[in-house]
Amino acid sequence: KWCDVGDMISVVLKQVREFSKHRSIRVDLPDQPLFICGDEVLLEQVLINVVSNAIKYSPDYSEIVITVTRDERNATLIIVVADNGVGIPDADKERIFEKFYRSESSRHVTGTGLGLAICKGIVEVHGGTIGADSNPGGGTRMSISLPMEAPEALFPYRGQGEVE
Ligand code: ATP
Ligand code: MG
Repeated sequence: KWCDVGDMISVVLKQVREFSKHRSIRVDLPDQPLFICGDEVLLEQVLINVVSNAIKYSPDYSEIVITVTRDERNATLIIVVADNGVGIPDADKERIFEKFYRSESSRHVTGTGLGLAICKGIVEVHGGTIGADSNPGGGTRMSISLPMEAPEALFPYRGQGEVE
């Protein structure tokens, strides 16, 4: 199914609103609507997990920024969720995507360590990648890259019974 990224982000923000109190979440979207082909419920789940982490591991009154950009050359959509929280030590940047792995830097908050492992699985079945970037103590940038096609890519198949 073709999913409008802006719509998905709105749905996610509605769901985390209660939980995000005292933080402002800014969304920076390109002007034209962007679509990705995939399972909307699962992709929203990825965003909920990542945005919830940004909330959970950042202080009250800090800002979270969600930026969506399009890399024309690789036909890739990049969603970055940036926070100003505790950050992730270099040594843990890969391991946080393992099941049950939790960084020492976040032991002050409870969690099971499953969220990102699930996100990674969902992103990978969509042909994408997920990675973390961080300066210790200087916040985290979680980047999700997904292959993207313009909605007009559907047109050649219209009327041929190949697209529902
Ligand atoms: P849950 O299963 O409830 O999501 P969790 O948040 O601990 O538990 P993950 O979402 O998988 O588990 O994240 C794994 C670990 O990665 C976290 O425990 C934390 O150490 C680190 N982490 C993830 N996102 C951030 C972030 N935005 N800032 C700092 N650390 C983070
Ligand atoms: Mg989590």
